[in-house]
Amino acid sequence: MMNPTVEALLILQERDVRVSALTAELENLPIQIEAVEDDLAVRTAKFDETKVKTRQIEADRKKLDLDVQSKQAAIARYRTQQQTTRKNEEFSALNHEIEHAEKEISALEDQELELMEAYDKGLAVVAQAQKDLAVFQEKAKQKKTDLEKRTAAVTAELTGAKEKQAAAEKTVDEEVLSRYRRILKSKKDVALVPIHGGSCGGCHMKLTSQTVLSAKGGENLASCENCGRLVYWLE
Ligand SMILES: [Zn+2]
Repeated sequence: MMNPTVEALLILQERDVRVSALTAELENLPIQIEAVEDDLAVRTAKFDETKVKTRQIEADRKKLDLDVQSKQAAIARYRTQQQTTRKNEEFSALNHEIEHAEKEISALEDQELELMEAYDKGLAVVAQAQKDLAVFQEKAKQKKTDLEKRTAAVTAELTGAKEKQAAAEKTVDEEVLSRYRRILKSKKDVALVPIHGGSCGGCHMKLTSQTVLSAKGGENLASCENCGRLVYWLE
């Protein structure tokens, strides 16, 4: 027959494990929610960056266009000057200026074409990125909702689990309880372990036959000589 104290401790331990698991989950949930938010912020920033980059292409093209316009105006001025001059030298100098400006305009227009193509590509990239972002936003929203629901559920579950834990604590003798709590605090995992093939179920070291017999007898609480955990005989 199992020692009644061991029986009570096993129930308490099971409830302790539950409370620890729920507490750990509850501590982790806000971190998960924050990670979802951070991820979304990074994605949104990346999208904004893509949009700004694309807008910049169009702004650059408009600047080139203004250059073209001012050069065209200059050409018009040169032609007017040509009409008023009587000097051949000045006339050919103006011709030279006009040719030069026309070459520059041609180069600028080539650049403009390149930018127009880049802008079209950029617009397509932005449109796709916007769709991707919308999908991601929806997923993130769902994930956050799930995590918030889980937080509420775990909070409620933890309240119940703590009540059960407190009820189980009342069934254990105070001295035994403080010993159990002390072991649990130092071992972090469990304080009460079964004997497996003559070894401690916690640290797996061989137990003395005296300890095994004591646990088997079920009259006293036996403990592992190596790790100090309480051990019990499992039929
Ligand atoms: Zn041990």
